[in-house]
Amino acid sequence: MTSDRRVLWFRRDLRLLDHPALLAAAEDGAEVVPLFILDERLLAPAGPSRIGWFLASVRSLADELAEYGATLVIRHGDPEVLLPAIVAETGAQQVHISSDHGPYGRARDSRVRTALGEVPLVETGSPYAVTPGRVLTGAGTGYQVFTPFYRAWREHGWRAPADSAPDRVAWASAPTEAIPESDLPPGVRLEPGESAARRHWADALERIGEYAAVRDRPDLDATSRISPYLKVGALHPRTLLADLADRDESEAFRRELAFREFYADVLHHRPETARDYARPELRGLPYVTGAALREHLDAWRAGRTGYPLVDAGMKQLLAEGWMHNRVRMLVASFLVKDLGVEWTHGARHFLRHLIDGDLASNQHGWQWAAGSGTDAAPYFRIFNPTTQARRFDPDGTYIRRWIPELRSLTGRAIHEPWTAFGGLPDGYPPPIVDHAEQRVAALEAYNALRGGR
Ligand code: FAD
Repeated sequence: MTSDRRVLWFRRDLRLLDHPALLAAAEDGAEVVPLFILDERLLAPAGPSRIGWFLASVRSLADELAEYGATLVIRHGDPEVLLPAIVAETGAQQVHISSDHGPYGRARDSRVRTALGEVPLVETGSPYAVTPGRVLTGAGTGYQVFTPFYRAWREHGWRAPADSAPDRVAWASAPTEAIPESDLPPGVRLEPGESAARRHWADALERIGEYAAVRDRPDLDATSRISPYLKVGALHPRTLLADLADRDESEAFRRELAFREFYADVLHHRPETARDYARPELRGLPYVTGAALREHLDAWRAGRTGYPLVDAGMKQLLAEGWMHNRVRMLVASFLVKDLGVEWTHGARHFLRHLIDGDLASNQHGWQWAAGSGTDAAPYFRIFNPTTQARRFDPDGTYIRRWIPELRSLTGRAIHEPWTAFGGLPDGYPPPIVDHAEQRVAALEAYNALRGGR
């Protein structure tokens, strides 16, 4: 027996299996105090779906721990103040964490480290297969472009899943507070928690052979929807990669997981890109302001732009706290290029509602669509909301799912309701702008900016 006791501070790693920091905390038979700190500052920008998903995931972790006879210690407040107090209270000699790579998390952890003084804050593992900052170019810098990053990331490789064996851990406890009551909004279709995440993944894995062919089709709803679990760390991406190994047909899926790693890596090297343009030369584009900004933003947020695929996506976001990737790309392009609204407004709305809302993937997904990202679509490539709809939701199944007013339309009219025989269906708005005109205006603004450089 040992009197060694350590705190395991859970953050974006709400699971017990494949958990390197748990393995490190429990090493040599040390007692482990499982701790979660509810830091209001992290929840401030989040809406009900995102908060509901997050708290339900914490509650599931508490339930899973209870199965091993352990109590998740909950505290509310500032980690910098609370951790030294918890360490004193429990007599812990170390605090263990999985590393965090966002700007807020890094600054917080550095303050916590200072506040803990002689008690070490030990980082083991991260929410990524390859810890951000590890994959470097020959010049020792971070990658700016995805494809070479992907090649180097694969060459770097990752460890096998960790055997964190929660049944063999000597769990310890401390007084705990309540997890705030919050309902999971009814539209959120996923069950929270690690066990549910594993079942969900097993199901997605069975369909992985079709993924490359169907991933761009929102009507088929055939992507994995694993992102909300990855966000809270109910699964580690290495668990997924281990299951994908040796399956030739899983290349397309592995590549998408690598996008998540790439954007985390870009944010690690360039934390300012969370708020600012990765390509500063695009900062000077003219955007709408005042009443026009409010009108455009309100219509877009509510799914009332008059472009069916855009509106269907925005309604899915509000109802489910999730949106299909193809539609995310379209609604982002539409907000910036057609409605002349700066990407930061859209990114904020996404982070409020998405249950997978993640600073790195979201801000860089937005910058990609706005043309201002490190590895972005060129600014002049502007999505056409009607042709995108015809191509990726060919018979309008997805549009009908989310826009009841359009359910009776068939043929061409489902994608262009303004051409419907008898006029626009009751309750559905006409197009807020003319896409062809806005496209020309966006290109002119872009060319003027380039000319002015
Ligand atoms: P699948 O297609 O099944 O892909 C599997 C996993 O690969 C995803 O869960 C995700 O972890 C990763 N992945 C796939 N595509 C991307 C991508 N383009 N960028 C980064 N990772 C990717 N993803 C988030 O997790 N959080 C966000 O806040 C977020 N915001 C976005 C904002 C915009 C404007 C855009 C264009 C994309 C955003 N994405 C974000 C990426 C992507 O849309 C989602 O990861 C994906 O739709 C999640 O659904 P899925 O799990 O079914 O994906």
